[in-house]
Amino acid sequence: TIGMLAIDEKGDIAGACTTSGMAYKVAGRVGDSPIIGAGLFIDNEVGGATATGVGEEVIRTVGSFLIVELMRQGKSPQEACEEGVKRIMAKNKDRKDFQIGFLAINKNGETGGYCVHPGFTYREYSPKGHENVQVKSFYE
Ligand code: ASP
Repeated sequence: TIGMLAIDEKGDIAGACTTSGMAYKVAGRVGDSPIIGAGLFIDNEVGGATATGVGEEVIRTVGSFLIVELMRQGKSPQEACEEGVKRIMAKNKDRKDFQIGFLAINKNGETGGYCVHPGFTYREYSPKGHENVQVKSFYE
C-alpha cells in the first residue's frame, strides 16, 4: 500500500491510498484500502489517517476513522496511531504474524505513524525540506 496525506497552505487536508492487494487472496476479497474509514479517512476539521497491512484487522476497528476520532479528542497524530495499533493488538493477543501501519496528520500539519513490526518509514515533505521518518513499532 502507498498512503499519502497532504495539507496545503490554507490547512485543507487530502489523502489517498493504493493497495498492493494481498498475496494468495481469496477471490472477491475487498481489503481496507477502498473502504473509507478503514484504509483512509479525512475530516478536514481534524486531520487524516491512512493504513497499510492486513486489511481485515484494519476494517474490524475502522482504523483510519478511529485515528481521526482520537485526534478529535485531543491526541497527537503519533498518540492516535499508537492507540489505533494497540486496539488492534488487544484483539490479537500475542499474535505476531501480521503487519499493520498507520500514518496520520492533523490540522497543524503535525504527523505521526506507528506499526506492529519495525520496518516502515515515511517521507515528510514541506517547504522547509524533507526527511525520512522511521515509524515506531509495537514489537521491537
Ligand atoms: N491493506 C491492503 C489490503 O488489505 C494490503 C496492503 O497493505 O496493500 O488489501
